[in-house]
Amino acid sequence: MTKQKPFIDIRHAKKSFGPLEVLKDISLQVERGQIVAIIGPSGSGKSTLLRAINELDPLTGGEIWLEGTQINKDLPHRQYEKHLNQVRQDIGMVFQHFNLFPHLRVRENITLAPKLLKKISDEAANALAEEQLKKVGMLERIDFFPSQLSGGQKQRVAIARALAMQPKVMLFDEATSALDPELVEEVNQVMKNLAKEDMTMIIVTHEMDFAESVCDRVLFMDQGVVVEEGPPSVIFHNPTHERTQNFLRKHL
Ligand code: ADP
Ligand code: MG
Repeated sequence: MTKQKPFIDIRHAKKSFGPLEVLKDISLQVERGQIVAIIGPSGSGKSTLLRAINELDPLTGGEIWLEGTQINKDLPHRQYEKHLNQVRQDIGMVFQHFNLFPHLRVRENITLAPKLLKKISDEAANALAEEQLKKVGMLERIDFFPSQLSGGQKQRVAIARALAMQPKVMLFDEATSALDPELVEEVNQVMKNLAKEDMTMIIVTHEMDFAESVCDRVLFMDQGVVVEEGPPSVIFHNPTHERTQNFLRKHL
């Protein structure tokens, strides 16, 4: 029997900005439905890794595969554009600063990409927007502009927008770091609901309690390498490496 390939397979990922080596040979496999947390000090390369996974900022070495398809590949311009469209559909990303389109209402924030990339009708896109907004408890704000929403509400809309593409994977880059403390829980709750629906997720976070409550695995990154990884019970309570221990001492 041949061994099934991992759902997400990151092999020897490397990324440099000029002389600066930010990712130094990172390998990571994620199974379908798994939830992986990435923790580590500021500047360790967490965002760079997430941005590479959805080809926002391509690797300089190594490979990223999703369900047997290589994400980072050299293609002639036209083919690459088409490939990127597919990648954007398959991999949803949520950013620290929401990145909603400020001049568009919530509805259009969500319908824009599905209409453009999936070529679905206005009617179907609207139905999709309503369905996803309902899921994050934001349906009643469908005709609001982002400026009329709280940070937690903006982030829930951003999550609904990503979900509207019906992605295979969701990437979260410190989705709650910019929020006032009292707004963190409403966003965490949405992520917990996604976890219950078996969404595959990679979550960069500073919230150790949250990571422990939802994640199957935790990776500790420092200076562009994965220092150690394991189940939350081990990484948070019995880490092997001194660098992990020092980091957690400051953050737990
Ligand atoms: P983290 O998300 O873990 O805080 P980042 O991935 O944002 O870390 O950054 C890792 C390192 O890469 C930092 O030293 C940062 O300054 C550098 N870096 C990130 N993006 C760029 C860029 N576009 N150009 C140059 N350096 C960058
Ligand atoms: Mg970051």
